[in-house]
Amino acid sequence: MSQTLLIKDIRIFDGENEIPSGSVLVENGLVKQVSRGSLNAPDASTVVISKPGHTLIPGIIDGHIHAHIDEQNTVLGQALKFGVTTVCDMHQEVENLAELRSRALNDPNSADFKTASQSATVSGGWPTAIITAHDKSEETLARVATWPDLKNRADVEAFIRDRVEDKADYIKLMHEDGNGLSVKPNLPSLELQKDIIDVAHQNGLLTVAHATSLQGTLQILRLGIDGLTHTFCDQPPTQEVIDAYLANNAHCNPTLVAIASLTTEGQREQERYSNDPRASKFLNSQGKQNLCKCMALANDESKVEYAYQTVRKLKAAGIDIIMGSDSAGPALGTAFGLSAHQELATLVAKCDFTPKEALIAGTSLVAKRLRLKDRGRIAEGLRADLVLIEGNPLEDIDRTLDIRGVWKQGTLCSTYSGLAA
Ligand SMILES: [Zn+2]
Repeated sequence: MSQTLLIKDIRIFDGENEIPSGSVLVENGLVKQVSRGSLNAPDASTVVISKPGHTLIPGIIDGHIHAHIDEQNTVLGQALKFGVTTVCDMHQEVENLAELRSRALNDPNSADFKTASQSATVSGGWPTAIITAHDKSEETLARVATWPDLKNRADVEAFIRDRVEDKADYIKLMHEDGNGLSVKPNLPSLELQKDIIDVAHQNGLLTVAHATSLQGTLQILRLGIDGLTHTFCDQPPTQEVIDAYLANNAHCNPTLVAIASLTTEGQREQERYSNDPRASKFLNSQGKQNLCKCMALANDESKVEYAYQTVRKLKAAGIDIIMGSDSAGPALGTAFGLSAHQELATLVAKCDFTPKEALIAGTSLVAKRLRLKDRGRIAEGLRADLVLIEGNPLEDIDRTLDIRGVWKQGTLCSTYSGLAA
């Protein structure tokens, strides 16, 4: 059980609004009270932290990652050091779920873990096509051979039953037609995708889909998807696609950093982040190397500017844009935890977001859209997932990397154990 904690004399961004100077009381891993002004410690054993000039924000939620299990804990552990207290996995081996969930639940130095579990795959589709384009090892071929090859309604019903059994947090569809890429995966039929969305909805599950082309995005929106896990980069946006988002009230998680790695236009920014001492101290040499390389899977017509344009237009139309990085072990140009900060900064630099709007996209809004009801804001009764930042990220989004404390359910991540002294 975590200690009672009082953080005071701080600016608070509660996930939606700013409190210029206030206090937050934490008890039993939950936020007990948020006050404009000063609060007194309830008893002598309360840990009191006074940090004038600092800002307390809700734990960042990365709405799109792919976890793996490693000894160094470079997924959930690294994410937490960067203030990402929850990661939302978007395709996972069923056999990894127990271990990842156990770390999330029992290790105070690991971020919390939400997952789609196994995504709705077809043979030769996404992501099999891309994985096997680079890696034809027997082990990899054997692994992808265990994934579903959905063909009809009965397969879909069995697939959704399995996800309910796995306690999947949402259902992930793969709708990659390869229009903007240098690979051509098999595209599931629209009839199959419609069945997946319908059966998921009948089971009360949220549906989100991978698509990186304009046409694929339009198709999957018209089938009733609840959200996209990327924006597209093969063409500029059209009014038609904005209208399709509006018709569903679908959200968009653009993954701009990953798109820029896909087209290789992100190279310089990736290097800049990798060389930032605030970031590099938490990355191992493999992590730094991966961050400085690009996925380079887009064809010559694709441009990250199309993705920026689309996000600007969607935002202006009132569509919810949520933050997710698509960080993954094999995803070059990304780093767990760090890429979430780069994504927030990119929303501000390229897509007309104010720093506050970017922080909303990375906290309360991603929680709302992915139906994580117990987090995403600093509010009474919610999880005490908190990040203490030196300076004011509401004025300068780059300050989100000036992290001085991270709490998961009221427990301080040990990286920051010098804080209370
Ligand atoms: Zn992904």
